[in-house]
Amino acid sequence: MDKCNNVTIVPITLKNGQIGCQMNINNDLATVADFLAAMDYFAVTYLADCYGCDGCCHERAPLTSIDITNLAKIVANCDYPAHQVINKFGDIFIDANGIVDITLRRTSNGSCNLLCQTGKYCLAHDHRPFVCQSHFCIARSDEIEQLRQTIVNHGENELVRLLSAEEAKGAPLIISNIIDLGDYPPTPLAGTKSWKEINIKNLL
Ligand code: SF4
Ligand code: SF4
Repeated sequence: MDKCNNVTIVPITLKNGQIGCQMNINNDLATVADFLAAMDYFAVTYLADCYGCDGCCHERAPLTSIDITNLAKIVANCDYPAHQVINKFGDIFIDANGIVDITLRRTSNGSCNLLCQTGKYCLAHDHRPFVCQSHFCIARSDEIEQLRQTIVNHGENELVRLLSAEEAKGAPLIISNIIDLGDYPPTPLAGTKSWKEINIKNLL
């Protein structure tokens, strides 16, 4: 695991004596991929391995458009990747006001469907969504939380646009007949397929 110089995540000691972390952005060109690499480096350097713990894998895990690119690598037929990934691993909830929430599917015991139920490890570790890659169980600074929330919000809205675009090309209708696409204008993630393409500066 190489250290990322564009973004560094560093430990801080909280008032209660526990360890937390904060972010330094060292380069105007830093990307979300740099942020994720820095989070990985921090976890490997300062935290215990998650293997065998499923503490986080029972929580809501929203999906983003770029998560589809990554999860599509473990789905066989990908003519309509967003539809096929969500059909296999996700769920879509649309409330009475047309607000869409797209998340990883839960099993009957409330765990993520990508969790190995016996070994308690992620079956899609190398392809896991942004929300999983950017999470660990210590306190994070407000700046990190704000960045995560912004990325998830934009990414989930961009996923709605992606589903709608696939449906315009012939994918089964699951969203276009219910939502008003005018409520989902392009986000800074529009047209991107990798976290390397997204400059953090455009999100803060
Ligand atoms: S994708 Fe993997 S890390 Fe994320 S919630 Fe599911 S099992 Fe856990
Ligand atoms: S980050 Fe989540 S899965 Fe990893 S050790 Fe902490 S609670 Fe367990």
